[in-house]
Order: sequence, then structure tokens, then C-alpha cells
Amino acid sequence: MPENDPIVVMKFGGTSVSGPEELKRAARRIVTAREAGNRVVAVLSARGKTTDELVAAAYEISDRPNSREMDMLLSTGERVSCALCSMAIIDMGHEAVSLTGSQAGIVTDSSHTRARIIDVRADRIREALGNERIVLVAGFQGVSTDSRDVTTLGRGGSDTTAVALAAALGASVCEIYTDVTGVFSADPRIVPGARKLPVVSYEEMLEMSASGAKVLQLRAVEYARNNGVPIHCRSSFEDLPGTLVLPESETMERPLVTAVTHSSDEARVTVVGVKDEPGVAGRIFKALADANVNVDVIIQNEPIGDDALADLSFTVDREDLHTAVDVIAELGDISHSVRTDERIGKVSIVGAGMRSHPGVAAKVFEVMGAELINIEMISTSPIKISCVIDAGKVPDAVRALHAAFELGEDAIVPEDPTGEHRPTVPS
Ligand code: ADP
Ligand code: ASP
Ligand code: MG
Repeated sequence: MPENDPIVVMKFGGTSVSGPEELKRAARRIVTAREAGNRVVAVLSARGKTTDELVAAAYEISDRPNSREMDMLLSTGERVSCALCSMAIIDMGHEAVSLTGSQAGIVTDSSHTRARIIDVRADRIREALGNERIVLVAGFQGVSTDSRDVTTLGRGGSDTTAVALAAALGASVCEIYTDVTGVFSADPRIVPGARKLPVVSYEEMLEMSASGAKVLQLRAVEYARNNGVPIHCRSSFEDLPGTLVLPESETMERPLVTAVTHSSDEARVTVVGVKDEPGVAGRIFKALADANVNVDVIIQNEPIGDDALADLSFTVDREDLHTAVDVIAELGDISHSVRTDERIGKVSIVGAGMRSHPGVAAKVFEVMGAELINIEMISTSPIKISCVIDAGKVPDAVRALHAAFELGEDAIVPEDPTGEHRPTVPS
């Protein structure tokens, strides 16, 4: 194959390879891209709910599964998809080869279940492309050069595998094929009238992914921004243009608010009776950081009375709750007690235009008030406002904010707002 043929990286998510028909459909799309004169690298996720099932299987065996073994287990899901898709492509008359993350040269640090890619040694992929092959790479996994163990990249990590390969191979675009037709002004499963965004800036997408829009993994967007990789997020069921994620200078639209995002998988930790003196917060958050726990919203109340004890609350991913509680316990006499709350949710609004417009936060709080939703914690960035609220109120809050900021577009209704009737492609 001529060495100057363009390289495209195509990533297919779990729903896009869930059963034999879906896998064959993905295989056809890959073959079509190849027949159009591209050198093709496809990154696949585990089929359907496989990763959830593997996680559940681990918890059937152990309350706190060993993280190295967890990675051995979880990495199997994407290997299955790749081997099956490679078989389908070979049956269609093309040369194909499937590779594990390690074989594909994805080198990571050694933090199991949330490893970071530190290098991509893509020689084996280049060699296979040079031998006229379509290359299928198992997403979401790599190998640590320190420990030589298999690692995984955190939930949704196949997006990051795809972007990292696109960067290493100099691909013109990283195509993320998924079960919605692009990035919307809110999760179309919650807001049926959400609008598909033709273009989103890296900055906005970072805030959206960080605040719960799991359509693109946060690290994938970070990697794309840092390496200038354009992302095209689109449907694997229909041949429609999706959403381009690009530098801000290349995006045309800059509305006040671009999207409402939400998350329902966080938990709150309240450290009760903390001494209000210098150094205490440093000890707590250093210990959490050392344990690789990502802390999101933090508030500390002003101590009242003579004992000068404060309460410090923060939110973490629900899957990190046990670790966070253990870390605080290990600090010994730092507080009276620790309370946890797993019923919290978060809604956020994101928009680059917010930077220069006062009054957006006030409007968000008014909307929550009108819906009788109590705001428990607040955090802001120049282009995002987040409110921590009761988990059960999240869908109502998302719909109310989406309506109040007029983000919908009646003319364009997503094809499959409920997820019950997936769009199909004529074969
Ligand atoms: P994949 O398995 O293809 O990686 P994901 O489930 O990780 O797919 O991400 C796609 C899902 O992200 C959609 O089904 C949708 O429900 C959800 N989602 C959340 N917020 C948004 C948004 N703003 N735009 C589009 N999809 C969103
Ligand atoms: N299979 C992994 C997950 O479910 C990775 C991915 O789909 O991107 O999180
Ligand atoms: Mg995903």
C-alpha cells in the first residue's frame, strides 16, 4: 500500500459491536474506508455490557478486587471484539490482523484500572499497514514497561486509545463511532429535544466530559487537544456527519451556553470536625491524590463556636468512595468522623461565551429554585457552572436548564432519544 495513503483511525464503542450483526456492520464500515484508499486502524471496545459484567464478576469473588488482576480480567473484553471483527473482515476478502494494546505498542504508567498512556510505539501497526492489512486494536488497555503488566485506561478508555493512535500515526482524523449521532446540547436520552452540535471546541468538550458527558472520555479530549488531533464523533448506525471537536479558533459558533451535562455516579464524603488550622486540608488532599482519587467539588464550612472545628465535604467518583474513606481513616486523628452520601448527582452548564457574561450563574440558581431543587454544593470555572443536587432530581434539572437556556432545536430531534429503537443502516 502506498505509504502516503491517508491513515484513518476509527473507534467503535460497545453498542456498535454488541452482537454479530453490529460487528459485521462495523466490519463493513472499516472495509469501506479501506476501499476508499485509506490505511485503516480500527480500535474496538468490549461488546455491549461486557465490561460491566466483568466488573460484576470480580465483585462476586472479592469486595476489593486486586487491581492488577482486575486489569487482566477487564482487558479480555476488547480482545474478543477485535478477533471477531478481524474474522469478519477476512471473510470480506481483506487482510486484517488484531492486536492487543500491548502488541499495538500502547505503553502506560502502572496505575492499574486508570493508567495513563505515556508512549505509543506503533512500529508493529505501521508494519502491518505496510503489508496491506487492516489493523484492529483492542481499546482501553496497554502495558506498563515498569511492571510489564497489562493495564487499563479507566472506563470509556477506548476513546483515548484511538486518539493516542491517531496522534502517533499522524492520522488526519480520529473517528469515534457510537450509538448517538454526535455530541448534543444535553444527553439525548434525557432531553429528547437536544440539538446536535456540529462543532465543539476542545475547551468546551473538556468541560463537558469532565462534568459527565461520557460520549467522549475526558482523557481522550485532553490527548486530542494536546496533540492537535481532530475528533469526529458520529453514529455507527447511520452515515451522517456528526460533531467535530476542534481548536476554539476553528469553531464558528460561540453561544453563551453550549450544553447541559450531568453525572449520577459521584459520591460525597464529609469529614466532620476537622481542626481549622493551616496544613489540614493539605494533608487530606495530598493523601487522596497519592491514592489516585480524583476530587471534584470541595466545600468547607466556617467553624462556629469555640472549638474551631470545621466540616469539609468533597465529591469523588462513586467507585473511589471506599478508597477515599480508607485514606481519611489512615490519617488517624484528623477528624471526629466521616460521613458519606451516595445519593448525589451533579448538573452543569458549559459554554465558552459565559466567560464574558455575568448573570449566568444567577439564572442557573433561579431555575433550580423554580424547580424546588436544593443546591447542595456549587463549583465554577470560567466556562462552566456545576451544582451538586439530589441524584433523583438530575433528569428534571437537566431538562429545566436545557429549556431555560433555549438550547433545543425543534427541527432536529435525535433519532433515538430513549435508546429503545436504535437506528439501523440499510445493508
Ligand atoms: P460508546 O460505547 O460508543 O463508547 P458511550 O456510552 O460511552 O458510548 O457514550 C455514548 C452515550 O453518551 C450516549 O448513548 C449518550 O446517552 C451519552 N451522552 C451523555 N451526554 C451526551 C451528550 N451531550 N451528547 C451525546 N451523548 C451523550
Ligand atoms: N470497555 C470499556 C468500558 O466499558 C472501555 C470503553 O468502552 O471505552 O469502559
Ligand atoms: Mg464510551
